[in-house]
Amino acid sequence: MLTTVKIPHFIGGQRVTPEGARTSPVYNPATGEKTAALPLATPAEVDDAVRAAKAAFGAWASTPPLRRARVMFKFRELVEARQETLAAQITAEHGKTHSDALGEVARGIECIEFACGIPQLLKGEVTENVGAAVDSHNLRQPLGVVAGITPFNFPAMVPLWMAPIAIACGNTFVLKPSERDPSASLLLAEWLREAGLPDGVFNVVHGDKVAVDALLEHPDVKAVSFVGSTPIARYIYATGCAHGKRVQALGGAKNHMVVLPDADLDQAADALMGAGYGSAGERCMAISVAVAVGDGVADTLVAKLAQRVRDLKIGRGDADGMDMGPLISAAHREKVRGYVDIGVAEGATLVVDGRAHRVPDCEDGFFLGGCLFDHVRPEMKIYKEEIFGPVLSIVRAKDYDEAVRLVNDHEYGNGVALFTRDGDAARDFVHRIQVGMVGINVPIPVPMAFHSFGGWKASLFGDHHIYGPEGVRFYTRLKTVTTRWPASIRAGAQFVMPTSG
Ligand code: NAD
Repeated sequence: MLTTVKIPHFIGGQRVTPEGARTSPVYNPATGEKTAALPLATPAEVDDAVRAAKAAFGAWASTPPLRRARVMFKFRELVEARQETLAAQITAEHGKTHSDALGEVARGIECIEFACGIPQLLKGEVTENVGAAVDSHNLRQPLGVVAGITPFNFPAMVPLWMAPIAIACGNTFVLKPSERDPSASLLLAEWLREAGLPDGVFNVVHGDKVAVDALLEHPDVKAVSFVGSTPIARYIYATGCAHGKRVQALGGAKNHMVVLPDADLDQAADALMGAGYGSAGERCMAISVAVAVGDGVADTLVAKLAQRVRDLKIGRGDADGMDMGPLISAAHREKVRGYVDIGVAEGATLVVDGRAHRVPDCEDGFFLGGCLFDHVRPEMKIYKEEIFGPVLSIVRAKDYDEAVRLVNDHEYGNGVALFTRDGDAARDFVHRIQVGMVGINVPIPVPMAFHSFGGWKASLFGDHHIYGPEGVRFYTRLKTVTTRWPASIRAGAQFVMPTSG
């Protein structure tokens, strides 16, 4: 594992450990121990990474797509063979359970698999005879150096949403991972190199706002992909665009699951347990609000959920059989606990209170028990804001239309689910709902790698969703060529003196 004292950057194919840099601590959230110091890049170090990426761009962009794909095939083999190592690294710095970390790696591998098809994905279009003896074709070319800025909650998967496709398209890449769990990205960098990626095509610089701003302002960075919270996503989008870059900035979420009276309520309760408390609620596609249509549905759901929330197995992510690990940091745990206090003060009913939960032998870990609120109302802060922890709110709607209105009126629009047996209601829901990713009896409708991922409203700023076909469009630009050839040698040899007339 890469839990060295000082975590390096990865620039131009080499680990670079700066002397005397500002640093930020990295913790094992299960024990609360500081495991490493992370150097925070200066603008000059970011410039080094961008220069390495720029120097590598020409040759990489000219490498046939088939050969770029072969690097991805090899990379995929390495990640799959070493998934246990990568998952253990994720658990050590993020805290999620090992099985959940393996799931994250699996979803990341799917994005590498999609990138292996790049020769097919980059094929252009041709029209013969757009005019008399004039043909037209178009092609998609890479942009140059592109940057990725990623959140803590998927330290391997979110970089893999971006880099394989960007690189397969012929771009070179600078990743600025989350400063809270940065080591997974270094494993990816080393395995890409081992897979045959030329030096400088994929670089990692660690850092905070200083490094991010240096990327956003750098004239040689042509595009920025961001995934993180909404206030930062908004800032990244505005600042990146103001500096002439192409930007996709994915933000936060408050995902609802609407449960209709005809739904299988056992299935709905199972789905809410996994989607609400898996990964301690620190997933952008976690369900944080269950909208029960009718008091009968709400009462039944609360009865089915309460004991199961109390019985959640919470402990170290590397221990067997855990449902949930710790939160990412002590500060984040305090923030989530603070939201529970606010919910109580606002008058919601706290059915299960996990605030005082302790894990034996991990007294200094950043653990919080599962919490369940009933009678949450739309004007409450705990309904409006993203909590990003193991806190599920039940909102009671009197009918289907009120449930749809709640979802559509919410600031966020990342994911949503409907649980029902009624096909007509499901069809109407898909048509009317103002959310980017919709699940029908599927609680976490994360699109597969060959579709694309993205929310609406305050959950995404920009024109393109991430990965899949939308990723190829984001990381390439269109060139259209119109061609006419003058009458040639085919018309016969000419014996007169050529003149300029
Ligand atoms: P965050 O916004 O705090 O950080 C994301 C990245 O931005 C990190 O690399 C961080 O270093 C950088 N950053 C933080 N503050 C900055 C600033 N002031 N200026 C410039 N850069 C800054 O997010 P997080 O806490 O790491 O991740 C959790 C958030 O990410 C949640 O809101 C979650 O919903 C969201 N998320 C969204 C998706 C999605 O697909 N929509 C996926 C995963 C996570």
